[in-house]
Amino acid sequence: MKLSSKLLLPYRNISHNFGTRKNGLTIEEARAPNHLEKCRQLAAKNNKMDLENVACLEQVHSNRVKIANESGIYPATDGVITNKKELLLCIQTADCAPIFLFAPQKKVIGALHGGWRGIARNIIRVAIDRLKSTFEIEPYNLLAAVGPSLRNHCFEIGPDILHHFDDRFILEEDDQYYLSFAELIKYELIEAGLIKDNIDILDYCTKCDPHMFYSYRGDNQVTGRMLNTIKLLDR
Ligand SMILES: [Zn+2]
Repeated sequence: MKLSSKLLLPYRNISHNFGTRKNGLTIEEARAPNHLEKCRQLAAKNNKMDLENVACLEQVHSNRVKIANESGIYPATDGVITNKKELLLCIQTADCAPIFLFAPQKKVIGALHGGWRGIARNIIRVAIDRLKSTFEIEPYNLLAAVGPSLRNHCFEIGPDILHHFDDRFILEEDDQYYLSFAELIKYELIEAGLIKDNIDILDYCTKCDPHMFYSYRGDNQVTGRMLNTIKLLDR
């Protein structure tokens, strides 16, 4: 099954896919010492591509965003940006949000691993600033598509991390706190200069739909990974 953003689909010069259990890394693969190589191999296979055209990230919940000019594994990186055609960018998730950025005029794409830590560390702002400084892309010309993630009442957070987030994104019920994660991401994108209509957030919660998605929380932290991929086509 292909999960796509209706905002990105009309563009003929990119292809993208938000992953599900079906085309993801199994629990065993995700826990293997060589899981990043497995990630590249599977992303290549899923997209019928050569391994030499796939970029995977060693995601560490940072705000580090790199310009990706070549395939391979990007160490300690949570976001990549490229204008290279046929270079597949791959983000692994299991509750965190995969975030794709696309500048149609300049033909540049970005892919971010959006966990709450990376978002709190402003990875969205860092990526959008990088698109501007490197490729002269104005944020109002950017499109953003956000894939399945942990949502609302599934995103319980402890009182110790409340200070990372504005009150408006915290739900409080029966002395439990929950993060309105998708709303937070949307807000961050708009704060960084995107236009509301240029943001598409897919309406799926990874924990609520265990048949379709791996969920770090839903599977008690022992789970596989969805592979979310985007590339510029050579046309
Ligand atoms: Zn849920």
